[in-house]
Amino acid sequence: MINVALDGPAGSGKSTVARLIAKKLDILYLDTGAMYRACGLKCKRLGLDAEKEEDVKKFIDGIDLAIRYENSAQHTFLDGEDVSEEIRKPDVSMLASAVSAHPCVRVKMVEMQRNIARQTDCVLDGRDIGSYVLPDAKYKFFVTADPKIRAERRFRELTEKGMKVDFDRLYEEILERDYNDSHRTFAPLVRAEDAVLLDTSAMTPDEVVDFVLSRITKED
Ligand code: C5P
Repeated sequence: MINVALDGPAGSGKSTVARLIAKKLDILYLDTGAMYRACGLKCKRLGLDAEKEEDVKKFIDGIDLAIRYENSAQHTFLDGEDVSEEIRKPDVSMLASAVSAHPCVRVKMVEMQRNIARQTDCVLDGRDIGSYVLPDAKYKFFVTADPKIRAERRFRELTEKGMKVDFDRLYEEILERDYNDSHRTFAPLVRAEDAVLLDTSAMTPDEVVDFVLSRITKED
């Protein structure tokens, strides 16, 4: 079973790289952030406060969340609706960061992630894959980059999708999410001791992919 764990902060390039690696290895790519985003969106739709665990507890056990693949692309369904586009909006990013701090949310999402990883070869990207979700994953990478560069990447990605975003606000939000993700008590964003550290600030996605693949094939 091949499990590749790719962790790192927002905009580090891990999702682009995870997608390309999964394609090269012809295995599944699981974007775990999409699952937390769907939980954030559910909170918004119910008009609940994502910061309050007692609010989140009202829906998390019964959440109707499904991950499906169409032409190898991950689609996230909430209450039977494909929300793959909607969960990319910046306000949903902030809600995802808030809900993901609650243990009740993480326990539920991690259970789904482990079930998928147990059944199939996959590349998973997230914050706690190597440190908590799959501590025994054979391959672990911690991908990071300078925060300004990460904000620029995210800005390009969103504007290319036609979304109107303010750069300074996006930068602030990235810093806030970094802080939230690395300071929560339960399974924070942290580099697993045995994860390979990769600073992608000056690297192209192809260079990152080549590096990761060289590590994987070299050891096999
Ligand atoms: O990776 P992405 O930016 O889509 O993740 C959205 C949010 O979901 C992150 O800011 C983080 O708070 C949360 N997350 C998490 N653990 C993961 C993946 C994402 O807490 N494994």
